[in-house]
Amino acid sequence: MKPLRILSNLTDIQEHNGAALSATLCCACGGEAFTVSHTGKQTKGILAPLILPRDRQLCVMVRCSACGEVICLFDSRMDSRSPREAEQVSAIPLGMKQESDWRIDIRLNYFPEYLRNDSGEYSNCFENLFVDIHPSKDGEKTYTLLEI
Ligand SMILES: [Zn+2]
Repeated sequence: MKPLRILSNLTDIQEHNGAALSATLCCACGGEAFTVSHTGKQTKGILAPLILPRDRQLCVMVRCSACGEVICLFDSRMDSRSPREAEQVSAIPLGMKQESDWRIDIRLNYFPEYLRNDSGEYSNCFENLFVDIHPSKDGEKTYTLLEI
């Protein structure tokens, strides 16, 4: 099993019950504020905005507000336990009132046997990904952006 692709961009990693991780996204420069773009369909969701795959394909890219580095947060063609062959469509900015400076927390759920690979690293074979975004100036308001 391949190691978790975005591991180097995660900080404050916490393991839960041997089957889940939570972490905060962090740029190599130390920045923790991002703009978000994606190739999916954005819906209003029941409780909060949600991004859904388009033609079974979804990429979520974030761009560090401090240094401009782009991080591919999720790519349905290579991430999770069941990556999908799909053509990439072009990314669009996250359509929300506030467009920039999101703080991003992720949660990953695994089947316990897929949590770590043979080298003991967290694996890329997760079952679900939840992306929570908070306006960085007001950490209380949270949107769940993605549930894969
Ligand atoms: Zn940066």
